[in-house]
Amino acid sequence: MTEILLKNADLILTMDESRQELPGADILIRDGQIAGIGQGLQAQGEVHDVSGCLVTPGLVNTHHHLYQTLTRAVPGGQDALLFGWLQTLYPIWAKFGPDEMFTSAQIGLAELALSGCTLSSDHLYLYPNGSRLEDTIAAASELEIRFHPTRGAMSIGESDGGLPPDSLVEEETAILDDMIRVVDAFHDPSEGSMCRVGLAPCSPFSVSRDLMRDAALLARDKGVMLHTHLAENDEDIAYSQAQFGCRPGQYAEDLGWTGPDVWHAHCVKLDGAEIDLFSRTKTGVAHCPCSNCRLGSGIAPVRTMRDAGVKVGLGADGSASNDNGNLMLEARQALLLQRVVNGADAMSAREALEIATRGGADVLGRPDCGRLMPGKRADVAVWDMRCVESAGSWDPAALLLAGPMQVKHLFVEGRQIVRDGHITTIDLPRVIERQNSLAKELQA
Ligand SMILES: [Zn+2]
Repeated sequence: MTEILLKNADLILTMDESRQELPGADILIRDGQIAGIGQGLQAQGEVHDVSGCLVTPGLVNTHHHLYQTLTRAVPGGQDALLFGWLQTLYPIWAKFGPDEMFTSAQIGLAELALSGCTLSSDHLYLYPNGSRLEDTIAAASELEIRFHPTRGAMSIGESDGGLPPDSLVEEETAILDDMIRVVDAFHDPSEGSMCRVGLAPCSPFSVSRDLMRDAALLARDKGVMLHTHLAENDEDIAYSQAQFGCRPGQYAEDLGWTGPDVWHAHCVKLDGAEIDLFSRTKTGVAHCPCSNCRLGSGIAPVRTMRDAGVKVGLGADGSASNDNGNLMLEARQALLLQRVVNGADAMSAREALEIATRGGADVLGRPDCGRLMPGKRADVAVWDMRCVESAGSWDPAALLLAGPMQVKHLFVEGRQIVRDGHITTIDLPRVIERQNSLAKELQA
């Protein structure tokens, strides 16, 4: 039995059923789970004094393309709309191999962890030069972060009227075979699981209708989740109407892509009927506010979605379209964008933090994560409110309105992966060096 005690937190934001906020409280962690929350708790093992700190559930990232950390701020893609941006980057990504996938995933996941993220999904939809999904799973397992990788795919290349070059697309039968392989090898459905695999054709414009339908059938057969990009911007809607004769919501529904085991990234352009569809079917949304700003896609109707009961989580999105991977900044941006559209009372800091924690966990089908309650997984973020950004703050809302934007300590499944602002599990300076040298090679 391993016990860890976090003692004397200034305040614990539990995100439990009644959103309790507990001043001067402790958290007892036992064998990866939260064993108790309250005052005067005792432990057999390690004790951390967290006075002066705010404690929250670990943040949950519901959409990312970790490999893109190797192509941040690429000239030519910096100021382009989505489709033009993709066409600039595809030839660069075509040069990636297993080492690029592993190293970029470590960087992306470490960056997320430092911003308080304990559970991240990833959407890897290209596999050039022998790359495989397990390159990223190995990166997550070394870092010891909870990971939901998805086996993405593209099958319609330029010669078939698609967007990606032919060298980056795969045969659909090979895609389905590899989907089966990675689910069988790496998916762990158990409670407290550190790795759950999902199936994720890249988008309706990069795979066929058949692959969308087959992936949905396979996911249901295997009991895994489905993920893709949907209704990201106006071009996306126009493409759907021109190619499929319907809006993206209808396309998704027709092919089995709605339900509690499905979540879609972006959904910036969902209309009222599509929001109702998502609410009725318990389909989740990965809201990526910084990416939507960066690519000029628009502002997702998150206020309307939440009011309609749609499950919404946050996504950092690929580091080539953000280009930052700090999830706390996403929570802040989500709040700011809803206020731009709907006024200053449209979203509170507490609601944005709820979306970032239990909201994301619910989108990923993880009710065992995203809240601090006895029996839930011990994924805990500790924020030092004695830092310069939050000096003078009157309320925990300062975490989003002021800072800090990086954690002091982070625990995943009860294991400490950030201590005093530093990653404990991997040699991050060495990985940064490796990443930078790979980025240089890609420029050559
Ligand atoms: Zn994306």
